[in-house]
Amino acid sequence: MRALWGGMIALTGLAVVAMAGPSADAYDADGRAHLEAALKRLPNTGKAKNIILFIGDGMGINSVTAGRIFAGQQRGGNGVTYDLAFEKLPYTGFSRTHSTDQYVTDSANGISAITTGVKTINGAIGVDASVKRETCGKAPKAAIPTIFEEAKRRGLSAGVVTTSGVTDATPAGAYGHTPERSWRADSDLPPEAVEHGCIDLARQLVDAPAEIRMDVVLGGDRYEFLPAGGEPTGVRRDGRDLTKAWLSQSPRATYVETDAALVAIDPAKTDHLLGLFATGDLPSPVDAEYHKNVPSLSDMTRKAIEVLKRNPKGFILMVESASIDKWHHRNNAYRALTDVDELSKAVAVAAEMTGDSDTLIIVTADHSHGLTLSAGSAIGEPVLGLAQSDGVLKRDRLGNPYTILSYATGPGEGGGEDHPLLDEKMVLDPNFKQQALIPMNSAQHAGEDVPVYARGPQAYLISGSFESTYLYQVMRHALQGESGKCRHRRCR
Ligand SMILES: [Zn+2]
Repeated sequence: MRALWGGMIALTGLAVVAMAGPSADAYDADGRAHLEAALKRLPNTGKAKNIILFIGDGMGINSVTAGRIFAGQQRGGNGVTYDLAFEKLPYTGFSRTHSTDQYVTDSANGISAITTGVKTINGAIGVDASVKRETCGKAPKAAIPTIFEEAKRRGLSAGVVTTSGVTDATPAGAYGHTPERSWRADSDLPPEAVEHGCIDLARQLVDAPAEIRMDVVLGGDRYEFLPAGGEPTGVRRDGRDLTKAWLSQSPRATYVETDAALVAIDPAKTDHLLGLFATGDLPSPVDAEYHKNVPSLSDMTRKAIEVLKRNPKGFILMVESASIDKWHHRNNAYRALTDVDELSKAVAVAAEMTGDSDTLIIVTADHSHGLTLSAGSAIGEPVLGLAQSDGVLKRDRLGNPYTILSYATGPGEGGGEDHPLLDEKMVLDPNFKQQALIPMNSAQHAGEDVPVYARGPQAYLISGSFESTYLYQVMRHALQGESGKCRHRRCR
């Protein structure tokens, strides 16, 4: 962390922070320290024993900048010189996230491109672009192996951790193959899909052959695993309890539903761990519901690594902070940026538990969101608040105050004549929806490139501007310690 700013006086919560300002000497010292670290940096060209892929869902560079300021302010600073844990990683690049059919990707193609090395249409996962959405057709033949399945076949362990449901698009990018991301339980499958042999994502996760099955799965979505009308009830119509199916596959399999049960797990006695901590997505750390039995992303990451690292051949793990995206969709920057901070904390846990000599850590996003940080406000004003300087509110063309953070699209307070006069108390409410230009019930994703941060073996290859599919090639190369051959079905 850099310490450029002196004389900070932190007030409580989101309050204004006063500061004396950085000296020229402080900038000079910071720049020289950064240069010295860069000059000493030698690329690690070795093989990766382990890979941890962090996804901040919807975390564009705008979320990183705003998230950094927010996280720094939550800790009593002005925010601008704070470093999120992944901003300390030495290598960075830019990833182009478009799908094969749209400028702006959804999370399905977004993750699938990274885990399979092949882009597909929006809505599809683990298949090539020959599929049609919501149509099974020949989709089973379009399946492309994921880096997680390939790692499993090489004898590594594999896991996926998320704050969403475990059958949501991003976690499904580790294990799923489907032309339709919403086929999460069998009750979601239309007759055509059943007829052509497509199966739901929950079943794909549990019923996968042992040689490619995930070893650790932590997140939400209990409903997708339990039978409808059962006790406790779920949404499955095949009558199966997939949590029991998970347990029956190995005497060293465990299933948990609470944070206390997760913490109590002895990794020495557990090889296969399923944890479903909510019926759907996990709640935000901001909300009371979170504090009833829900583990933090950091706690799930820690336990996943403890279990997976017992494999002497290594492991591959995906960790997703899913709700950055979900709260951006609602224009609720407070909860979205809280989840950027949660991702940062989980990266810190992983960086501490693994060595950069043998573990490749990649932190990126599947796509961006239309968040922007507008000018006019003095440093030290709460980033979630109104633009202001020296106690004087900045105003738009109509004379109304405006928020520092706003969105291109979504349900937030609109601009123009009809929007209510905002005051600081109103906009600092945790439930406030930041202003949005184009009114929509749910904010649209955004299509600009997303940042990638990396450390460890072959991390130096993360550099420049590339298609998101390149990350697959880097991970595969890092596991093999050599350049891989094409393994697409067309060139096998
Ligand atoms: Zn989204």
